[in-house]
Amino acid sequence: MQNSSNPFLRINELLDFLELKDVPGIDFSSDFPMRVPLSYAKKMQKGNPDDPLLRQVLPTLQEKIESEGFLKDPVGDTLAQKENGILQKYKHRILLIAGNTCSIRCRFCFRRNSKLLMPSNLPILLQEYLEKDSSIKEIIFSGGDPFMTPISVIEELIKKAIPAKAVRTIRFHTRVPITEPELAKTYLPLFEKYSERFHVVLVLHANHAQEISNETTNLLKQFQNANVLLLNQSTLLKGVNDSAETLAELSHTLFENGVLPYYLHLLDKAQGTAHFEVNEQDAKKIYHKLLTLLPGYLVPKMVRENQGEKSKTPVF
Ligand code: SF4
Repeated sequence: MQNSSNPFLRINELLDFLELKDVPGIDFSSDFPMRVPLSYAKKMQKGNPDDPLLRQVLPTLQEKIESEGFLKDPVGDTLAQKENGILQKYKHRILLIAGNTCSIRCRFCFRRNSKLLMPSNLPILLQEYLEKDSSIKEIIFSGGDPFMTPISVIEELIKKAIPAKAVRTIRFHTRVPITEPELAKTYLPLFEKYSERFHVVLVLHANHAQEISNETTNLLKQFQNANVLLLNQSTLLKGVNDSAETLAELSHTLFENGVLPYYLHLLDKAQGTAHFEVNEQDAKKIYHKLLTLLPGYLVPKMVRENQGEKSKTPVF
């Protein structure tokens, strides 16, 4: 029996739960094994092998195909690592590898082959970094997923940023409010505690409106009440959300939940993810149609991350 702390790790158990039989092309021995929380699986449509949420998590043999231009580290994380667990790609902000695991394993993940880990002395390294560089205004908690890291560790990191006067914003990139809302809720008191010292930003990662359940809606209301700015980033994924109508529905659903669409990423070309790629020409067609379906404030910026560049690259 599954619960949120005991997710689906066996493919056959997930397929049984979804009443699916004989799904072709599954990889039962992936090096990037499946992990799907029950609360996420419950949002999938039973009996539908093409469910857009199932597609995001089901290991397939297509991941074994080596495609030209698809790399182990497509966005240059390793090169951007300044200290163990601290990356800086852009001015005034640093990114912490503040988690070693994820609640869910997304097959399209750009860090699926990553070897970067959170070191146990990350709080000390962060303190030293901020003492040396007073230009840092924002700290991004990433991972893995920072909501899979004990709250005490996250708090220790936040405390190290308090003396750094220039740091005004702490930003969390997490998929846990989508995948395990009950778990995400346990981080709320931490945000309430530090919301006077810092602007707190939560960047969700929802790719499809079907991912926003009532539990997530209730949770997001509570984050909003705690003065947390809610944004969402999505990845444009073939077979998941590669139509303007699907993306427009996502934007509307996010807005109803107090979340603004922030980025729509073109796929980061991580090895094993080529089957999710929407080529740039098709992406532009989808995007131009999306512009006609939404008010400007609900259109996420479509971008690509190019290794070594000083910002994300807009794609129009
Ligand atoms: S939650 Fe984010 S980091 Fe984790 S597997 Fe999914 S896309 Fe990758």
